[in-house]
Amino acid sequence: MARIVKKFGGTSVGDVDRIQNVARVIKAEYDNGNEVVVVVSARSGVTNQLIARAKAINPNPADREMDMLLVAGEQETIALTAMALHALGVDAVSMTGAMAGIKTDPYHTRARIVRMECQQLIEYLEKKRVVIVAGFQGANELGQITTLGRGGSDLSAIALAKGVDADLCQIYTDVDGVYTADPRIVPKARKIQEISYEEMLELASLGTKVMQARSVEFSNKYNVPFEVRSSFNNNPGTIVKEEVSSMEDVVVRGIALDKNQAKVIITNIPDKPGSAAKVFQGISDANVVVDMIVQNIGRNGVANMTFTVPQDDMDRASKAVEEILAELGGGEVTLVGDVAKLSVVGVGMRSHSGVAGQLFAALSEAKTNIQLISTSEIKISVVIAEGDAEEATRVVHTAFGLDRVD
Ligand code: ADP
Ligand code: ASP
Ligand code: MG
Repeated sequence: MARIVKKFGGTSVGDVDRIQNVARVIKAEYDNGNEVVVVVSARSGVTNQLIARAKAINPNPADREMDMLLVAGEQETIALTAMALHALGVDAVSMTGAMAGIKTDPYHTRARIVRMECQQLIEYLEKKRVVIVAGFQGANELGQITTLGRGGSDLSAIALAKGVDADLCQIYTDVDGVYTADPRIVPKARKIQEISYEEMLELASLGTKVMQARSVEFSNKYNVPFEVRSSFNNNPGTIVKEEVSSMEDVVVRGIALDKNQAKVIITNIPDKPGSAAKVFQGISDANVVVDMIVQNIGRNGVANMTFTVPQDDMDRASKAVEEILAELGGGEVTLVGDVAKLSVVGVGMRSHSGVAGQLFAALSEAKTNIQLISTSEIKISVVIAEGDAEEATRVVHTAFGLDRVD
């Protein structure tokens, strides 16, 4: 007997037929004599619809009320999934995140898990009940409902796998694994059999949507290996686990593309100690996360600097910078919204040289101009025009020998 956590994302539970399909997958596992914890997301599109409805009523809804609203999406799915299992004769019970023992910090809409208290859930499992948990949600110390950031059902699943000491954690989605690039953009992308936590974390943080970055961070911290697989077929998926030495043989494991990027250019900022500190403190106070930063050499007492922020935060960042520049007594801000960040990722980069040269050569072949560059031990990122981004991704994919050979 094994204890298994299975998470089904929004598309997998998108309508009645799909929920019934999920129920059959769960029943098959249960009939094999295993204990099954299921985590489900809201039906695809529901969370976005709820957000749109909130903004139509109030452009700046309170975070607490947003959480109260958004959890409704997942709560619908747990009840329907439990009902679908009852119809198949399986004893299933639904639980909200709070009931399942997911304890978080107080930060609404982006709460972090601080503790798992899974006794009640484990008792249900021991009574041979299938437990269906609402993903994406928990409760803080005061019992207030919180959510775990977009895509947070992945985190619920991995945290529950840790909390109930599961033998296996499976993330079911609408693709049959993690690919070398988004298969919607690169049709020749290949399914990756095994990938290290660190590589998956970089890919997720750099815009690969298949896993929520924070969930991978959690799996890395607590060593919770998991499989990403399809809810629509039985193909083996991708195993995400601790790095093994053979993983370094592959130089580039995958390519991430993030189109939600914007460039903020500040010109003629007074070139004196403290200018940069003030600018970035102002941006941080506006709750905007800055990514790549480049400062040019100052001339005639003024300097220029450029940095990237998520496109959604562009206006907030620019407003914050304007205020700081007024305080500093000079400088202008220009915003460039239509940029994208393309990144190549692989632990093999630690032991192989020449990756940057190969990437730049491929981009030059794709006639793509590089605007900004940043590197770390296992990744190289470039900022390019959004219009060039998809074609550049395909060219880079081919250049690194990642294309599928049929
Ligand atoms: P779920 O609703 O199951 O959580 P998501 O929509 O969050 O699913 O993630 C699955 C999607 O991630 C896929 O449909 C795919 O287009 C996208 N994706 C982006 N990059 C990759 C990649 N490298 N490998 C697999 N899927 C990817
Ligand atoms: N429903 C939430 C979202 O759309 C959480 C999830 O699907 O993982 O972000
Ligand atoms: Mg997801």
